Amino acid sequence: MEKSILRLPRGLRDFPPEEMAKFSYVENKIRRVLELYGYQEVRTPIFERFDLFALRSGEEIRSRMFVFSTDEGEMALRPEVTAPIARMVATGKLDLSKKPLKIYYIGPCYRYDEPQAGRYREFWQAGVELIGSPYPEADAEVIRLATRVLEELGLEGYVLRIGDMAVIRAFLTQEGVPEEAVNRIIGPLDVLTSSLDKLRMYREKLSEANSGRPLGPDELSDLIRRCDEIRRLKEEELLKMDAGESLIPKAYEGLLEPDPRVYRLKELYEEGSFDEICDVLDKKAEELVVLTKLRWAYYGVEYGPGQTYKMPEEVFDKLMELMSISGPGDEALPALEKLLGRSGQVGQALSRFEEALKALSWFGVEGFTVDMSIVRGLEYYTGTVFEIDFPFLGAQKQVCGGGRYDKLVEEFGGPSLPAVGFAFGVDRLVLALERSGKVPPARPRCDVYVIPISEEVLDYAIRASEQLRSSGLRTEVSLSRRKLREELSIADKLGARLAIIIGPREAEEGKLTVRDLETREQVSLPLKEAIRHVKAALAGGKT
Ligand code: AMP
Repeated sequence: MEKSILRLPRGLRDFPPEEMAKFSYVENKIRRVLELYGYQEVRTPIFERFDLFALRSGEEIRSRMFVFSTDEGEMALRPEVTAPIARMVATGKLDLSKKPLKIYYIGPCYRYDEPQAGRYREFWQAGVELIGSPYPEADAEVIRLATRVLEELGLEGYVLRIGDMAVIRAFLTQEGVPEEAVNRIIGPLDVLTSSLDKLRMYREKLSEANSGRPLGPDELSDLIRRCDEIRRLKEEELLKMDAGESLIPKAYEGLLEPDPRVYRLKELYEEGSFDEICDVLDKKAEELVVLTKLRWAYYGVEYGPGQTYKMPEEVFDKLMELMSISGPGDEALPALEKLLGRSGQVGQALSRFEEALKALSWFGVEGFTVDMSIVRGLEYYTGTVFEIDFPFLGAQKQVCGGGRYDKLVEEFGGPSLPAVGFAFGVDRLVLALERSGKVPPARPRCDVYVIPISEEVLDYAIRASEQLRSSGLRTEVSLSRRKLREELSIADKLGARLAIIIGPREAEEGKLTVRDLETREQVSLPLKEAIRHVKAALAGGKT
């Protein structure tokens, strides 16, 4: 047999029982918190029609999904669950008389991403959707749900950042950007800000370290890949300029000057020249912003057949200024007002944002940062957006993301229903638990291990085990016909607290001999009493 057929595809994992236990622990905590607030679980299929996911995110999303064809057309493994839930609502599968609907899900998602630590091609999302309330207290409740889950898991050190897409959208509309063009700008804006965020994070880590290896291997290759991508974009544009095919005026050529240091990043890292790398990172961040600005200004953004929007450079600059506003609410909100004014749609969006932040305090959520650079890739967000990071997780630090999407259900042909939701990455929560040393000790496979010492007593031993199980005791009966001594050591290995030894005398007298595996004390008792004794022992009493 070819060995390669046994190799798991990249970005996929198996979960042995010890791993599964961690996932179940997290999932149970999530269920408990969400049900405490009245949310109910739903399940949707693992794959759906490709167009369902492409509807709002555009054809570009194809390269990030697993797409395959069937007799009914193209399908895609679900990359997220919000669109399937919006489909459920739009097609009348949920009882709208119970508005707002409070729904949650836990299940696998699939993305054709480049795998690295914390980023997989198959991963689990746990999310909520609150559908049917337009009010700021709904936004606040959803954010509170997320922080409560983290509190219940005992995870500390998370960073909650909140932004608002309505403010960004209102600003763009005020500047005359057509609505569909706004939708087409959001995705690339998210890519731009997350790249800048990553470059900034690497820069911080490098500038704080004087020696050693401040970046993990995945982080270093991500840094190199990102810098190389910017080099490639610049080079492409320069080649076009040389061939006279670029739409960007030649005057900007100087900004696209090649920097040979990008080829030597690994070397620079290995020799500890961190200052030099920081300098490269600063340049790359600057170049990425300038490149995006020039491309949007001179090539424009396509937003329909034959329709292109060219963003004036000063609008781009103001957008960058807007997105750079970040800080506590009482600093960020006045800064927003100063930059944008308070009139029209922008003013309304700002007031709504303020109300959502106020409602958060009613739920006891504090210590968050307003961060207008959060734009969230999927285009369907229309209002509050938020992200939660654990900085100690490195490049894949985001554990939760969500926000308000008031138009999605309607766009799927359903009623006009405002909605707000989020998704946790369960895998990353498990990683965060591991890194914080908060993984609870694994539960042993069984509490009671029943040992029939000969073939003749199997019948009695198995019947007795069934009774133990019926009274709620987690019981294994040996299926291996081993010697008593071996069986006792297996019982120990499995982590059982008690062994029950059954020989011909026990079978004849209808008794069980219960052995405490720690103290090695043994008692022989009739079945009912034995069960009581075992329960008391497991509850912490003495045997
Ligand atoms: P998103 O739908 O992109 O907002 O993702 C929600 C959450 O899912 C993120 O905050 C991550 O924690 C998690 N997530 C997204 N993509 C992946 C992936 N490829 N591997 C592991 N977790 C992921």
